[in-house]
Amino acid sequence: MKANVWHGKGDMRVEKVPDPRILNPRDAIVKITSTAICGSDLHLYDGYVSTMEAGDILGHEFMGEVVEVGSAVKNLHAGDRVVVPFTIACGNCFFCQRHEHSLCENSNPNAWMAEKMWGHSTAGVFGYSHLTGGYAGGQAQYARVPYADAGPLRIDDGLDDEQVLFLSDVLPTGYMAAENCNIQGGDVVAVWGCGPVGQFAIQSAWLLGAERVIAIDRFPERLAMARDWSRAETLDYEAVDVADALRDMTGGRGPDACIDAVGMEAHGSGVLATYDRIRQMIRLESDRPMVLREVLRSCRNGGTVSVPGVYGGFIDKLPMGSVMNRALTLKTGQTHVQRYLQPLLERVRRGDFEPQRLVTHRLPLDDAPQAYRMFRDKQDGCVKVVLKPWLH
Ligand code: NAD
Ligand code: ZN
Ligand code: ZN
Repeated sequence: MKANVWHGKGDMRVEKVPDPRILNPRDAIVKITSTAICGSDLHLYDGYVSTMEAGDILGHEFMGEVVEVGSAVKNLHAGDRVVVPFTIACGNCFFCQRHEHSLCENSNPNAWMAEKMWGHSTAGVFGYSHLTGGYAGGQAQYARVPYADAGPLRIDDGLDDEQVLFLSDVLPTGYMAAENCNIQGGDVVAVWGCGPVGQFAIQSAWLLGAERVIAIDRFPERLAMARDWSRAETLDYEAVDVADALRDMTGGRGPDACIDAVGMEAHGSGVLATYDRIRQMIRLESDRPMVLREVLRSCRNGGTVSVPGVYGGFIDKLPMGSVMNRALTLKTGQTHVQRYLQPLLERVRRGDFEPQRLVTHRLPLDDAPQAYRMFRDKQDGCVKVVLKPWLH
């Protein structure tokens, strides 16, 4: 089959690789009809995630048709259409029973690597380094889906791929980010980053009762999308001092909840930004926490900071004094996707979300390397790319 394969920083190639096979009774093989590139994939592309190996198949947002199931999979059959959550979870362990699927205790065969880095391991993730299992990803024509009896969501009705594809990741991620804000009536929520995760976080904040949502980015087309589609007020962080502007907009108090939908590759200027860029380059710091610092300082006293943005390792100059003295609550995590599949599918059916409107580009899988560049560099107004593995 064809797959998009990682060869090193900035080097991805679409290549012929062996077809996946059923390895365990709970596996399924899915023929992929649509797959997307996520902001998290950019961290791999830019070489900021450790334990990637040349030859790794990328991609963790995908859906398609079941072509084969293992002997223990009774709820899926060949021909079923499914969306596959990016987090791999067994459905039975301590964390899965608590619906904290991204913390599954059984799905990361390389748990020892994660334990060394983070103290404890998390769940396995498709196409996302050996630290989270070394699983082949879904930017490919086929994928092996472990725990297929517990994870994938079957789509029975006439919804298009693009209406349901993002249930695999960015829609639940935006939703969980807003849910983590514990929004009360009257709350002001600020969202850093108007990429796919930011857009769904804004839309979810409204659905969960926010009174005002303020979104921050610098790309005009993303800010326009946040205004016109997601109905937020917007700030261009290159035109204003964000912390000052937020203070002014909230009577001096600051937003009740702040969402970091940017993560480890935050862009910035000034002394601290240069400090982060250099420390990251010489590997003294794994991530650039420009936005996280701003978020922590901007949030009102006693407010909630929600971090869907991905961080990999260690950061410097985190204002812990601000967190402690101002009684902030910090909520974060890889998304517990399985928990949100059914309720968010219902919301898509009801029209609360129209995820297909996020898609700006559709390309054959063969064009994955160009698509990564376009998405990373925000060329041609790119906000979300869907790759079609069977299109030439
Ligand atoms: P994206 O790269 O499309 O969007 C990031 C946005 O942040 C861009 O529009 C960029 O201009 C903006 N940005 C950069 N610096 C900024 C700054 N200083 N202030 C304000 N905005 C700034 O990515 P995405 O797909 O929307 O993903 C966003 C983050 O969420 C990434 O870190 C990704 O890894 C993470 N993510 C996490 C999960 C999870 O399970 N927690 C799932 C999916 C994605
Ligand atoms: Zn993702
Ligand atoms: Zn589990």
